[in-house]
Amino acid sequence: MSPVHFAKRLLASAPVHNTVGALLRRPGVQVLMYHRIGSLDPEFSGLDLDVFRDHIRWLSANTQLIRPEQLSDPALYARTRKPAVLLTFDDGFRDFFVNAYPVLAEHEAPALVFLPTEAVQEGGTIWPEALLCRLARARKAGAFETLLNGLQPNHSVLLQDHAHAPTGALKTVSNDARLAFIDDVVTTLTTLGINTHIDRQMMTWDEIASTRPLVDYGAHTHSHPIVSRMDKDTFARDMARCCELLEQGLGARPTRFAWPNGRREDFSATALETLHGLGFEQVFTTVEGVNNEPHSTSAIRRLPTSTPDAASLNALMLRAS
Ligand SMILES: [Zn+2]
Repeated sequence: MSPVHFAKRLLASAPVHNTVGALLRRPGVQVLMYHRIGSLDPEFSGLDLDVFRDHIRWLSANTQLIRPEQLSDPALYARTRKPAVLLTFDDGFRDFFVNAYPVLAEHEAPALVFLPTEAVQEGGTIWPEALLCRLARARKAGAFETLLNGLQPNHSVLLQDHAHAPTGALKTVSNDARLAFIDDVVTTLTTLGINTHIDRQMMTWDEIASTRPLVDYGAHTHSHPIVSRMDKDTFARDMARCCELLEQGLGARPTRFAWPNGRREDFSATALETLHGLGFEQVFTTVEGVNNEPHSTSAIRRLPTSTPDAASLNALMLRAS
């Protein structure tokens, strides 16, 4: 074991965590952000399931796992031995139901899951995953060059310049330009005889219903756009559809929301006004940090969780400011 890892293990041990850790840690509520847990489909994978089990076992022993409504409880923002932690999962993948939920249920650990309603309703997956999966299929079939030649010139240039990370580039262009690019890729691949269908990656409404009441659900838009790249009216329509489907599927209007991608440049003050107009009370970002007061619920910070074990997760939580 390396000295660094030994130190992390020591910091994560209960006696140190409850004493030194309590002093080192910035007081406040920590919101952890997970995506996929384990793998159900060879084309997609997420955090290793054993690592996730290790996280939840350690978190349930050493922190207070809270429900989203407790974010407004001022008592949880004081310096404590066991910090308050809210578990969140973006995108509502089926591996949440199959892999993560049984672990959460075993530890009675509450969670909040954000649903992009288009993929939940219609199957397939959110666009970044779908695009990368289709491009991987083109490469596997030896058809990547042919794809480049078949695309419209501006799309071909974009894909050539960002062959391994086109989703990053597409997050910076207008929503219409992103949709046109994806449409061109799908049409061209279809012409080349490459399968562009993506099997359902999301939970069904029945699966979602069966995880309640331990799990709460929030909105994550309908089409998972980069909201700052979309005009106000298009965002309002996207959210209206999202709220309608969530109300149908969950029996109540959602009051919690997470921005897709969630960095400061991915959302705007105007879009936040739209959310407030729709009655959203808690808005989650992917901006990293500890939440140190109960009133700032319009830009809730979260911490990523792709650590190799619980000791590293604890080190991440200790470092967060
Ligand atoms: Zn997402």
